[in-house]
Amino acid sequence: MGKLFVISAPSGAGKSSLIQSILKNFDNVELSISATTRSPREGEIEGQHYFFVTEEEFNSLKDNNAFIESAFVHNYQYGTLQKYIDDRLKKGINIICDIDVQGFKLIQKARVDHISIFIIPPSIKELEKRLLKRGLDSENVIGTRLKNAKEELKYADEFDYRVLNDNFDQAYEEIVNIIINGKLPKNEDKINSKILKDILS
Ligand code: 5GP
Repeated sequence: MGKLFVISAPSGAGKSSLIQSILKNFDNVELSISATTRSPREGEIEGQHYFFVTEEEFNSLKDNNAFIESAFVHNYQYGTLQKYIDDRLKKGINIICDIDVQGFKLIQKARVDHISIFIIPPSIKELEKRLLKRGLDSENVIGTRLKNAKEELKYADEFDYRVLNDNFDQAYEEIVNIIINGKLPKNEDKINSKILKDILS
């Protein structure tokens, strides 16, 4: 059986780039493809980035218990497809779920076996800078995402591991250690927890 990894982070924390590097370098790790009611961004491909569905289709999947978890994130619905995950885990593939904090809490509640990782941005200011630089979202959307970020950071302590993404290579190594070797040196996690407290204070 493969293992299920749940990775959450405020948008702009660099989660996607870290996950993409892991996927490129390890054959036995795949990303869970969620269903969403959000429209595709430029370059996003149906069935590769998401299954893009209508509100009606999403609700019908929900009614048929197709999701392990689903949540409203930044005004759109997102959900992790149970069958998609089960099929891959059975094949021995490790799966990463890139989901928000609400989704993580629902997976915890569902008592699905998983290992959770929260990626911490260096600071809220840096987060704003990264979102602006990414240029994917309007100012309004960035405002919502920053507000949500502060809320999400409060839950970081509930995850199994916290990884600070100040230095990409170091953050990458830490995630590889957790996913491939199943551990992160204890003192490193303590350091990350301390940084988190500083960000929140
Ligand atoms: P984006 O719209 O930028 O692709 O994703 C926005 C947020 O939705 C991210 O924080 C991402 O982790 C979260 N997300 C993506 N898929 C799912 C899902 O299936 N369930 C939940 N709960 N959140 C998701």
